[in-house]
Amino acid sequence: MRLGSLCAVSVCAATISISPGTARAQAPSPAKTAALASVEGQRADLIRMADQIWSFAELALRETKSAALLADHAERHGFTVERGVAGMPTAFVATYGRGRPIIGIIGEYDALPGLSQQVSTTRDAVAEGGAGQGCGHNLFGTASLGAAVAVKALIASGKLTGTVKYYGTPAEEKIGGKIYMIREGFFRDADVVLAWHPGDETKAEYEGFQANVQFVVEFRGRTAHAAGDPWNGRSAADAAELFTHGINMLREHVKPSVRMHYTVERAGDVPNVVPDYARVLTWVRDSKRAGVDTVFARVQDIAKGAALMAGVEQTLTVQTGFTDMNILESGSRLLHENLTRIGPPTYTAEEEAFARALQQATGKDVVGMNAAVRPLKPITADPPGGSSDVGDVSWVAPTLHFTLATAPKDVPWHAWPVVAASGMSIGHKGMMYAARTLAATAVDLFENAAVREAIRAEWTEKTKGVTYTWLVPDGPPPVPGH
Ligand SMILES: [Zn+2]
Repeated sequence: MRLGSLCAVSVCAATISISPGTARAQAPSPAKTAALASVEGQRADLIRMADQIWSFAELALRETKSAALLADHAERHGFTVERGVAGMPTAFVATYGRGRPIIGIIGEYDALPGLSQQVSTTRDAVAEGGAGQGCGHNLFGTASLGAAVAVKALIASGKLTGTVKYYGTPAEEKIGGKIYMIREGFFRDADVVLAWHPGDETKAEYEGFQANVQFVVEFRGRTAHAAGDPWNGRSAADAAELFTHGINMLREHVKPSVRMHYTVERAGDVPNVVPDYARVLTWVRDSKRAGVDTVFARVQDIAKGAALMAGVEQTLTVQTGFTDMNILESGSRLLHENLTRIGPPTYTAEEEAFARALQQATGKDVVGMNAAVRPLKPITADPPGGSSDVGDVSWVAPTLHFTLATAPKDVPWHAWPVVAASGMSIGHKGMMYAARTLAATAVDLFENAAVREAIRAEWTEKTKGVTYTWLVPDGPPPVPGH
């Protein structure tokens, strides 16, 4: 679908006023100017919180201190905070205001295992083997709350009417906390939900995320002495090897958009015992859920075949699955206008040197920071690699999403350079830019019913005939220790 094709419906007039390049840029409304000033006024608070969450570096569903820090901050600013929602102690919703419109803003805060890293241009862990903010979620959760606080102040002073909700969403890196929140009915009442993600470039969404399914394959065989009577053993490790080999043979026969990856979590302990248990954690991704389903069916057959060849039993358990993103062109235009109007940060010589050193250290082109807003493009059919449970939210409520540079161009993601950049001024500058963009866009959504209606109309059109189903298993979320 081309940009602007929404003009086929009667909401076109509403989108013209927010379309960049179509007319004189309107001066920001007094409320928007006030929102931007409010974000700026929170600078010290936001940097302090982002740095604390960076130091906490808490893993999925263990983000106790991070969630409490953000929830307490919201409460101090007058929000009504509902903690521990959807069966997850680290999920919360902070609400201020009453009535419509309801504008939601999503925040994340979980870290990744094994990525502990100092603010340094060489690989130096803070705590060896510890976790690190390798996806910049310390910036994500904090910027979003800063924007929500700015909007709250405008509602409190009567400059805006309606409700702002901050969704504290845990466990994005695995499990998918938002999906459990969707299962409990959250997000659905929002007129529009806003989200962003730290990245190495700045753009309103036109690429989206891949759908995926995450599952565990377990093989159970029969143990024996590996030298004494191996003929009595049935090796679960053999089955795991055959299974992963089968996946690797399948790679030639899937579309280029498919990604399959696994880790062998268990496959025996010592070589002189035939392993009777093996476990392989596996993910399959593709551009759309339907593509994932097709490949997943074949992978299930491979698991059965591997078990048959090794003479063992197999079970396959789905842990979760993320859905591709329902991108709204009308929403991306609005985000693009605000990103462009606010403009990217400039970087000091020290920050540029830091960025270039990270690129040098990881074998990337040494080009420094590039936070310039990329031109808006038509929605692409195949997203780049990566998935997010924000995709699931986009099927239950109109969801606007952008990516913003918080790290040097092309440095490896989910890796130590991102942890380093997320804990210093390069990350802080991206976070402040994100908070301003979220706040400005929220003000537009509060003030301009026609824009909201255009977004709603496009969402209604794109979800027509689509039945969203979540992939998380029945039962409570897998909270550690519960
Ligand atoms: Zn992330």
